[in-house]
Amino acid sequence: ARAAYAAARPRSADLHRRATEVMPGGNTRSVLAYAPFPAAMQRGEDCRLWDIDGHAYLDLCGEYTAGLFGHSEPRIHKVLHATLEGGINLAAVGQGEERLARLLCGRFPSLERLRFTNSGTEANLMALTAARGFTGRNTIMVMQGGYHGGVLTFPLAGPSPATLPLPFLPTPYNDSAEATRLARAHAQDLAAIIVEPMLGGGGCIPATKTFLATLRALADETGAVLIFDEVMTSRMSGGGLQARLGITPDMTCLGKYIGGGMSFGAFGGRADIMAQFESKVPHAGTFNNNVLTMAAGSVAMGEIFTAEAAEALYARGEALRARLNAVGEAAGLPLGFTGLGSMMTVHFRRPLPDRPYAATAGEEGLRELFFFDMMAAGLYLARRGMVALSLPVGEADLDRFVSAVGEFAESRAELLR
Ligand code: PMP
Repeated sequence: ARAAYAAARPRSADLHRRATEVMPGGNTRSVLAYAPFPAAMQRGEDCRLWDIDGHAYLDLCGEYTAGLFGHSEPRIHKVLHATLEGGINLAAVGQGEERLARLLCGRFPSLERLRFTNSGTEANLMALTAARGFTGRNTIMVMQGGYHGGVLTFPLAGPSPATLPLPFLPTPYNDSAEATRLARAHAQDLAAIIVEPMLGGGGCIPATKTFLATLRALADETGAVLIFDEVMTSRMSGGGLQARLGITPDMTCLGKYIGGGMSFGAFGGRADIMAQFESKVPHAGTFNNNVLTMAAGSVAMGEIFTAEAAEALYARGEALRARLNAVGEAAGLPLGFTGLGSMMTVHFRRPLPDRPYAATAGEEGLRELFFFDMMAAGLYLARRGMVALSLPVGEADLDRFVSAVGEFAESRAELLR
């Protein structure tokens, strides 16, 4: 499958070879660095993509959740063009910034005040800075298998790869007893507990409500700041996964689709914590309020991805996941999808995992094969087997994906067993 993938993409192979001469690894996004080389895309339209080798795809990757609106949402294109007419970035505050901030504070229960950044990574770095400043403490409880950005990535076991020199306290995800033990042991110096309410990069593993409620109680008990990284999960309802679960953190980080597809990040929360930015804690950033993101984000969140649209997308995703899981169950094969709503990741084990796990070499091989088989069928997923539905994906597209997974189960049954 790998050889067939490579043979069908000589232009992508050539681009990759040239790119490695000027960029280590051949590009600047680690998720797009996979063997033998990534397929290079030429063009996108609604939920379709065309690569430089002449293949067409249904885009189920959804730009790792940032592509919620697809590649050509007319209302977003229109506001971007209109904004460009008014001039690119004006080194000044503008109405778009206030509008988008008000929209987001009105939607996410924990957001009393917020500030914009250019990425989810920055949003998380700033939230951690705010928590440390507010508490006067240092230790940060993080989840093993969690991901909060390039320099905030935490392995399941062993030391982190080159990351920040902060006193991180790695904690097993969905293990309330261990989280309680660790938080109490470090209570004096615990500044923050940061958690994805569903692990995204870690395999679309939802946190149990009990686990998040435990973290909420531990933050209250120790005086630490509870931070939900909702960079990916904010799409789970009009007010994010926090509103769906009814658990309100002290701070929330946002990113991805909220800027309508432009570079985006935001962090915010309790007014008393955020008040530090009035004077004590600096937070500059040339592009924080860039006019394109502010304008596209306002239309995206104010007019397109309304709370009703968020509920509808959630329901579509749940229905799709049930159909996909019926495929593996009917065939009696260890093939299924975890996730919530419109985000899901394939796994090759039964029962489906409820915690992050270290995959065996066999599972890694199946994951690669699944990716290549989907590419051959004209379906573009994240290399790790993650799907993030975008709004333009239609029912016929979903049918096509379900049949492709069915064909995979049939043709690869021997390997899966
Ligand atoms: N947090 C989570 C949960 C993410 O999934 C990501 C990106 N995949 C980030 C933070 C980092 O966001 P960005 O890539 O915009 O820096």
